[in-house]
Amino acid sequence: MDIQGKRVLVVGLGKSGVASALFLESRGARVTVSDAKSEDQLCNEIPSLLDRGITVETGKHGERTFRDQDLIVVSPGVPNNVAPLQHARRLGIPVIGEIELTARFLQGQIVAITGSNGKTTTTTLTGEIIASGGRKTLVGGNIGTPAITFVEQSSPDTWVVLEISSFQLESIESFHPHISAILNVTPDHLDRHGSMQNYIAAKRRIFENQTADDYAVLNADSEVNLQIAEGLKSQVLWFSRKHPVDRGAFVEGGTICYRDPELVEIMPVTEIALKGAHNVENVLAGVAIGMAAGIEPSAIRRAVKDFRAVEHRLEYVATLRGVQYYNDSKATNVDATIKALESFPGNIHLILGGKDKDSDYTELNGLIAERVKCVYTIGAAAEKIESQIGNTVPVISAQTLESAVRKASDLAGEGDIVLLAPACASFDQFSSYEHRGRVFKDLVQSLAALQSASPSGER
Ligand code: ADP
Repeated sequence: MDIQGKRVLVVGLGKSGVASALFLESRGARVTVSDAKSEDQLCNEIPSLLDRGITVETGKHGERTFRDQDLIVVSPGVPNNVAPLQHARRLGIPVIGEIELTARFLQGQIVAITGSNGKTTTTTLTGEIIASGGRKTLVGGNIGTPAITFVEQSSPDTWVVLEISSFQLESIESFHPHISAILNVTPDHLDRHGSMQNYIAAKRRIFENQTADDYAVLNADSEVNLQIAEGLKSQVLWFSRKHPVDRGAFVEGGTICYRDPELVEIMPVTEIALKGAHNVENVLAGVAIGMAAGIEPSAIRRAVKDFRAVEHRLEYVATLRGVQYYNDSKATNVDATIKALESFPGNIHLILGGKDKDSDYTELNGLIAERVKCVYTIGAAAEKIESQIGNTVPVISAQTLESAVRKASDLAGEGDIVLLAPACASFDQFSSYEHRGRVFKDLVQSLAALQSASPSGER
């Protein structure tokens, strides 16, 4: 793709937009960026762009800005069907996303991982597995470093492991991973995709350009994944926590195995340091990808054994007076909260709430009745959650995270778990789930300081 001297508009000034604009400029394009947010909200990013001679439009998407372009690169945060983009398409201007832009320049093999939950954990682990096999590995995408940033460092022997969101998949054309995985598909982001069918269709695009030389890694324990496999051109590798599969990774008799077609024993499940059955699924996906990439089983085992929870994903924080605190701030949907609850046998003090995503919290009721001692609600979704989760256990309307942690620490006793797994987005009270998780950890640390100052136990 030749972009030298071309007029390119980048829409959306998030991390991916900034990286795309800088990349395009470095390749000689005449770049404009446009973001509907005000200059004040974007002030950190703007100087580096202006310094490079990039034109910056903020506070609106000007009609002319979208008209006079040879190419538009849209950020994943911008819905694909907003009016200025529709208009540009009608004028015949190609509209692609950052992942598609990357695909047109990147060298090496791409491993792409999507799913409603587990993407970051599995992508990070898979990066470790491939690196442990001695390959030159780059890891990023929807986490950490935007994919476009890898173009300069990539070479034909590079393995680029990318976390890919459904939003990023909406705007691909030629993106062609050698190995693609869908971990699971459960309701999420329905406010943007409109329906489950649209959401599944967006995820399935991760296989769209694969051929019979490529691999599709899919979860055999998920009904939706079984449907997704129908009609794929690539070779399907399954993973299952529940039963052996003909081709792929599975657990049998406490051992992680891989079959294709010979059976290889990889490692005992007990060597996995991560908590929860869902993390066994993530490991199985990583094993299937590693084996498809030709990594030695011993190198896979080493990488899995050394792997610890990614921050804010069922992350152990501390034990105070016999009460364990876990930060699962990244549980931003109901399914992730279900998985968090399933990871502990009981005695849970659960902090729920934040910004609702049209979720159905009644799905939590069975596990709450079974394993939770008390629920603490916070944020904008509190009322909806309280009305949906019934009253099988006490529900305390704590409003803020600070008050929830304080109340939970008052009520929890030896052997209990205080779990932040809010099932909601964070944007009502925090700038991000990372911010929410850090505040939670800071609150737990202040509690620790307070408790060590009063060792007798008064609070
Ligand atoms: P993603 O990048 O898809 O959001 P993460 O690895 O960041 O995935 O995890 C997000 C949340 O989902 C965390 O609360 C985590 O504990 C939970 N989770 C991780 N893996 C899975 C899985 N395979 N199935 C369901 N929930 C999961």
